[in-house]
Order: sequence, then C-alpha cells, then structure tokens
Amino acid sequence: MSVTVWILGDQLLKEHPALIHAEKARPRDQVVVLMIEGQSQMQRMAYHAKKITLLISAMRHYAEGLRSAGYQVDYRKGVNISQAILAHLKTSHPDNLITMEASSRRGYEFQHNLSANFGVETVILPNTQFLGGQYDPLPGVPVDQPIRQEQYYRKMRQHFHVLMDEQGQPQGGQWNFDQKNRQPLPKKLDIPGIIQFDPDAITQAVMNEVNRNYSVTGDSKNFKLAVTHEGAMLAAEDFFNRRLPNFGTYEDGMRQDETVLFHSMLAVYLNIGLLEPLDLVRTAERAYHDGFVEINNVEGFIRQVIGWREYMYWQYQRLMPGLKQGNYWEAERPLPAFFWNTGESQLNCLDKVIKRVLIWGYTHHIERLMVLSNYCLLTGVNPHQVFEWFSCGFIDAYEWVMVPNVYGMGLFVDGGKVATKPYIASANYINKMSDYCKDCSYDRKKRTGSQACPYNFLYWNFLLKHQEKLADNPRMARMLYNLKFLDQGERAEVQSQAAAYINSLP
Ligand SMILES: Cc1cc2nc3c(=O)[nH]c(=O)nc-3n(C[C@H](O)[C@H](O)[C@H](O)COP(=O)(O)OP(=O)(O)OC[C@H]3O[C@@H](n4cnc5c(N)ncnc54)[C@H](O)[C@@H]3O)c2cc1C
Ligand code: SF4
Repeated sequence: MSVTVWILGDQLLKEHPALIHAEKARPRDQVVVLMIEGQSQMQRMAYHAKKITLLISAMRHYAEGLRSAGYQVDYRKGVNISQAILAHLKTSHPDNLITMEASSRRGYEFQHNLSANFGVETVILPNTQFLGGQYDPLPGVPVDQPIRQEQYYRKMRQHFHVLMDEQGQPQGGQWNFDQKNRQPLPKKLDIPGIIQFDPDAITQAVMNEVNRNYSVTGDSKNFKLAVTHEGAMLAAEDFFNRRLPNFGTYEDGMRQDETVLFHSMLAVYLNIGLLEPLDLVRTAERAYHDGFVEINNVEGFIRQVIGWREYMYWQYQRLMPGLKQGNYWEAERPLPAFFWNTGESQLNCLDKVIKRVLIWGYTHHIERLMVLSNYCLLTGVNPHQVFEWFSCGFIDAYEWVMVPNVYGMGLFVDGGKVATKPYIASANYINKMSDYCKDCSYDRKKRTGSQACPYNFLYWNFLLKHQEKLADNPRMARMLYNLKFLDQGERAEVQSQAAAYINSLP
C-alpha cells in the first residue's frame, strides 16, 4: 500500500510540505510522487514559448531530483489532468492523496473536488509559496473594504520581524524611502548584465518539443533561464551581488536598449517554487546589515516581495471571482493587433516594449504599468483582452498574480480595491523616466496635431471623459486641477484627436 503525493508544476519547492507530511507516516518506498505535464492546461491560451519551456524543463529536472533521492515518481506527459489522475489511481491504488493548495482558484476548486470526483481520500495542505499561507495580517476584512498595500506591508514586516529594530520601529527610521528611490537613470550609468544558463540536454529537448507541439506566443530560441533550485539560487546571488545595491534607486527607470536594468528577474523562479520569498527577504536584509546595500535599496526590494507580491496574492484570494468581472471605465474596444505582431504602433516606447515581451517574455514593472497597461487604459481596451495578452506574453504569468495586476493595478476595473488610483500618464512621465522619446517619430511636447505623442491627447481625453469618476479620488486631484488650464477649444481638439486615433487603431 502507498500514498500519493501530487506535486503541481508551479510548486517545485525544495522542501515540499506534502512530501514532508507523507514521510511522517510512511517510509519513502511507500510514497509515490505524481507529476503531470497537463498539455491541455498549458494550451488553455497561447502562453509564451519560454514560459512553457521553463515550466516543463523545471518539472522534469525536479522529477529527476526526486528519483535520485529515492522516490518513485509517476511522471505523466502530454495529457489532460483528470485523465492522468484517473490513470494513476488505477495503477497505484493509493490509500490517500496528499497535495498542497493550488494558487489559482480553478486549481483550488479542482483539488477540493478530488474526493468527490475520483473517490480518493485527499489531504490538502496550506500553500507555503506565500507567507500569507502562514499568516493573514487582516483576517475577515469585508470584500468592499479597501485595504491599502502600505497597511498590509507594515503588518507583514512587523509579524516576520523584517527590517525592524528592537523597539518595534522600522530600521532606518521610516517605512519607505520613496524620496531617494525612483530616480531616472543617469546617462552614463553602467548596467550590469544578467546571469544566463545554457540549456542542458533535458532543456534542449523541451525547447524542440515546445516549438513543435505547442501553439505559443514567441519561441523558445535563446532560452537562458535556470531550471533547477541550484540555478535559481545562482540567479538570486547574481541579483544580490550586482543589482540590489541600485534596485530601489532606479526601480522606476527605463532604458530603450536595456531590459532588466537593476531588477531581479526572480519572479519567474518564485512563481514556480524554485525560490521562496522569505529566503530572498532574509538575504536582502543581511546585505543591509553587512553594510553592502543601503536601506533605500533593500527596503525597496523587500517591499516588492512581502509587500506587493503577498498583497496581490491576498487580494486575489479575497476579491475573486468579482475582480475579473469589473469594468469600471466601460472599456470595450478590442486590443490593437500590433500587440500580437512585433510592435508596429509607431510609438517608440510601446513598440520596443512589445517586442521585448514577444521575444523574451519579460519587461520590468514600470514598462508593464506605465507603457503597456497605461496605453490600454487610455485607449479603452476591453480588460479581458488585455488580460489575455499579458497572460500569453510573460514568462512569470500565473492567474493569481496576473488578475490583481492587470485588472486591479493596471486597469483599475474594480474602481480602487487593489490600487489607490488609476495609473495613467502622458509622455511627460515616460520621457522623465526613460530615453525612449528622443528616438520617436512623435513629439513628446505636443498635445495635439499630427506629430503629437498619442499618450498626450489620450491622457487629457481620459481625464475629460472620466472627470466625474476621478473626482471622487483625492489622489487624482492634482491631475484634474490641471484640466482648468485647457480652454474649450483645446478640450474639443484633444477629444476629437483621441476619438479619431482610437477609431483608427487596427
Ligand atoms: C500589468 C501588470 C502585469 C503584471 N504581470 C505579472 C505577472 O504575470 N507575474 C508576476 O509575477 N508579476 C507581474 N506583475 C508584477 C511585477 O511587474 C512583476 O512581478 C515584476 O516586474 C517581475 O519582474 P522581476 O522579478 O524583475 O521583479 P522586481 O522588480 O525585481 O521585483 C522583485 C519581486 O517583487 C515581486 N513583485 C513586485 N511587484 C509585484 C506586483 N505588483 N505583484 C506581484 N509581485 C510583485 C515579484 O515577485 C518580483 O520578482 C505585473 C504588473 C503589472 C502592472
Ligand atoms: S514621444 Fe510618446 S510615443 Fe514616443 S516614445 Fe515618447 S511617450 Fe512614447
């Protein structure tokens, strides 16, 4: 007799709670690990080829690791998950099945119906990929009560004693260092490269399979990501040594010829369990205590991991399914076709960022927010189409993180449960934070006219169109105030150019 431990493809934890749980009651030779490469699940949308390559290769390496550690692994390929479970149960006849809670709603519901649908006694353990699985800083908050990231983040720092002094005060004397952070990148600043991993035989086979068998976005060519715990640790070390010292200072900066800048590019590994959040936070904290990194940079990074990442997961859990159903701005136009082709919008910033996504499956946070979703918000693209594009475009895209970021932060479809304001900006912001505008055929300074940057007339048009809704939000007061400097003629011009532009989009 045996027990089955079902390990999900995005839960490749070094110490998997379901394995630990199983081995408390059984010797290793009575534990069978089930892993399923569910092709139909991976083909639900045309996900990025590099993401599918990463997932499958990491799963196969993980299974190899388990076999070397003496586990029997039932690894099933190319099938639908329900069929794979049925086939496994028929051959293994386990006493019970142990698994860790899925991060997506769909997966969670599937797991909770395993007993009823497959007649197998099931143990579902809390998800340890998130600190929120161990501690909820705001239990029982009603769905309609807005909770801000800052509130959530401070409670997490206090509970896990991160960057806190003995008196319970934040180290460095304040909770955030925004005034030091978010600087534009100086022209002459050297940007360190990022560690790359040559594909081994397993990865190469997966790259070929993905190009052959999957209908995907982009391709697997030049795949250089880590696919094991050891590789992901090296990627984290590379970040801590070379980019963390400037992380906060330049976290909002953009450069047209650089993709990663001082970002970590660790979400890819965190989201499939190759790295774990608290390990990264403790390493960053140590770097500060050892005098290697200044507080603004380390706090900036820690805020992203136990602030934003955890907060988004928490919001996803409490606001679904409603979060995916909102459409606060009543935005209905289709996503312009150039999002799917290598970027032919003629807007230099947008084209370069779209290309980056289609080729690498990655672009950093500010480009996701202030170039891509800003454009979709200003042009009134239907939120579901934006969600689909982001889901297919990114190597770190998973439902739990994509939903609050796209619907909540990027598009504000919930009217403000996730974000405190809609993130809209004109060329002014993009120019301040990047070098895109100097090589663009549009004029960043013009508000209207044939050369005017579309972000400009679209921005003013958005403020005019949604004035009433925006007036309720104190964080929008300054932007709205500036409307009074536009006379009637200018307002009409902005609106007619925005309408013509939006109507002309492919
Ligand atoms: C429209 C939009 C779509 C996004 N889609 C995704 C997505 O598919 N997958 C994804 O993991 N993140 C997504 N994000 C959040 C964020 O942009 C990415 O986590 C980040 O850019 C990943 O790159 P990085 O690892 O270099 O992050 P860094 O800038 O180095 O940040 C460090 C870590 O903080 C975490 N983090 C920071 N911000 C967020 C956030 N808003 N939500 C969740 N985690 C955060 C990530 O784990 C990240 O690895 C999206 C944001 C927006 C605005
Ligand atoms: S001018 Fe406008 S479209 Fe061109 S790069 Fe600047 S912000 Fe982007």
